[in-house]
Amino acid sequence: MSTIFSKIIALEIPADIIYEDEVVIAFLDIKPVNKGHTLVIPKIPSTDGLECDEKTMAHVINVGQKIARVLKTALPCDGINFIMNNGAAAGQEVFHTHLHVVPRYENDNSFAHAKHVSYENDESKKLAVTLATRLI
Ligand code: AMP
Repeated sequence: MSTIFSKIIALEIPADIIYEDEVVIAFLDIKPVNKGHTLVIPKIPSTDGLECDEKTMAHVINVGQKIARVLKTALPCDGINFIMNNGAAAGQEVFHTHLHVVPRYENDNSFAHAKHVSYENDESKKLAVTLATRLI
């Protein structure tokens, strides 16, 4: 499926591109959580990080790490979030695989409202066994 990110790759719409190689392109997010918030996307479209082929996914992460190191010293910032929203339920709005590289500052409270749930009795042990079995 073609998205707005395909248009950025094709240079049909403008973006503040900070890195490009044969596999990925990285540009500043138009609505940054903090200044320097960058998106790393594969040039070959895939819907999300579960659909993306493994080699490309690894390269997206590697480039994200490289950019994070530069942001940390160039801005500078105190920390970095790597975020990938996969699926609408996870907050994905653009259905082209992308890694968010988000600069963070002490006490910036940028993602202050995470919700937590609790496991009952041995529920977590059972779930761990189920998942571990499927990961063999
Ligand atoms: P997600 O919710 O993970 O799908 O994030 C999509 C991100 O793409 C959002 O943070 C948007 O601000 C960003 N975005 C959408 N359109 C553009 C654009 N034309 N240039 C740069 N970033 C964009």
